[in-house]
Amino acid sequence: MAKKQFKAESKRLLEMMINSIYTHREIFLRELISNASDAIDKIYYKALSDEQMVFDKDNYYIKVKPDKANRTLTISDTGIGMTKEELENNLGVIAKSGSLAFKKENEVKDGHEIIGQFGVGFYSAFMVAESVTVISRALGSNEAYKWESKGADGYTVEPCEKETVGTDIILKIKENTEDDQYDEYLEEYRLRAIIKKYSDFIRYPIRMDVTGS
Ligand code: ADP
Ligand code: MG
Repeated sequence: MAKKQFKAESKRLLEMMINSIYTHREIFLRELISNASDAIDKIYYKALSDEQMVFDKDNYYIKVKPDKANRTLTISDTGIGMTKEELENNLGVIAKSGSLAFKKENEVKDGHEIIGQFGVGFYSAFMVAESVTVISRALGSNEAYKWESKGADGYTVEPCEKETVGTDIILKIKENTEDDQYDEYLEEYRLRAIIKKYSDFIRYPIRMDVTGS
C-alpha cells in the first residue's frame, strides 16, 4: 500500500518532538487522554441537541492498557470516533492543534519549552512510540479503519474490524537505549502517576487495564 506523506509543517514538528528531551515525554499521555475526552464530549453535546440520542454516562470512559509482553500501550475511548476521511485529515495535519501558530509567532528558541507548555497533540505519541496504530469507528458508521505510522515517513489507512464506536490508539513503545528509558511507560504505577499529574480533571472515568505483566 502506498504511504501518504505528512504535511511539511507536521513533519518538522514531528522531528522536533521525537527528539524532545526526557522530562517532557510523559505529556504524550495527557494529550491522548485529552483527545479521548474531547471525543466523548462530542457525543455528549450531540446527545444534548438530539432527542433520539441518550447519553448514558456509564457507557463513556477512557481505558489505558499497558501490555508489557507485547510492548504496547493502548488508549481507548468510547467517543465519537473518526471516519476514514477524518483519520486522514485530522491525523495527517498538525496545524489544527494550535502549537504551530504559536511556533510561527515565537520562532522556536527551544522546542522543548513549547512541548512542555502547549497542547502539542496527537503527534506527541511519537516521543515514546516507534509506531502508532489508530483503530477507529465513527458514530453512525458500520465501517472501521486502521491508521498506521512509524513517524515522519508517512502513514497508511486501511479498513479493519471494530465492534464498537470509538477509538483505540495503540503505541508500540520504543526499546530502551543507553541514554533513554521507555519501559516506564508500560508500568502501571508510572502511568497512574502521570494520569494523576496531568489528567486529574478529566470528566470521564479513566480505567487502567493491565495485562501481560
Ligand atoms: P487538537 O486536539 O488540538 O485538535 P490533536 O493533534 O491532539 O489536536 O488531534 C487532532 C485531531 O484528531 C483532533 O482535533 C480530533 O479531530 C482528532 N482526534 C484525535 N484523537 C481522537 C480520538 N481519540 N477520537 C476522535 N478524534 C480524535
Ligand atoms: Mg488534542
